[in-house]
Amino acid sequence: MKTIGLIGGMSWESSAEYYRLINQDMKQRLGGHHNARSVMVTVGFEQVKALQHAGRWDELAGIMRDAALKVQAAGADFVVLCTNTMHRVAPAIEAALAVPFLHIVDPTAQALRAAGIARVGLLGTAFTMEQDFYRGRMLERHGIEAVVPGPEARALVHRIIYDELCHGVVRDASREAYRRVIGELQAQGVGGVILGCTEIALLIGQGDVPLPVFDTTALHAQAAVSRALEGALAASAAAATP
Ligand code: GLU
Repeated sequence: MKTIGLIGGMSWESSAEYYRLINQDMKQRLGGHHNARSVMVTVGFEQVKALQHAGRWDELAGIMRDAALKVQAAGADFVVLCTNTMHRVAPAIEAALAVPFLHIVDPTAQALRAAGIARVGLLGTAFTMEQDFYRGRMLERHGIEAVVPGPEARALVHRIIYDELCHGVVRDASREAYRRVIGELQAQGVGGVILGCTEIALLIGQGDVPLPVFDTTALHAQAAVSRALEGALAASAAAATP
């Protein structure tokens, strides 16, 4: 089994979800007392958030690169960045690493393609919804068009992420607000909605929404488990063959 390297702390509320989902999935796949092999480096979210909102992405690239190198030095066979937003600096991380980087857009896009969805709604931070790094990769690498809500709704979705979900605060009124935003996206003809921020699943899930929901935290965690097991299952199957 490979060791999963996690860059966490953005926010720790969602990093805890990654840890839980990865270990639950590993146990489900292997049974018994199996769990994942993992290492996590946690960065300081207060600083990260301030730099994001000041647009200081070069400094953030340095912080993410240093965290990725620590994860690699701790024995990670590949690296998972537990936030959509900070994939803004994924190229800097990938360039620094000797081990592979598991980009959050790719397993999400694979799930969308498997569901036959080529046009999808995207909820996330303003950075994820408005900058090109996320929607661009979806379109250019995977042929999927990601549609975002209008400016007022984007501001609302962003505010709820930072002011509530990243503090572990889950409000019924905010769930209703998200449902309304998703309804507006549905009226634009999208076939599903990406929960493109790793805290959104704390607020809303498939049971709350009429459209198919693509939770990036769960999809990224599942992809990490699959990657960790690549080769291992084939080796144990071969060993079991008489
Ligand atoms: N976890 C969030 C995301 O997936 C937002 C927090 C952050 O700014 O990294 O985008």
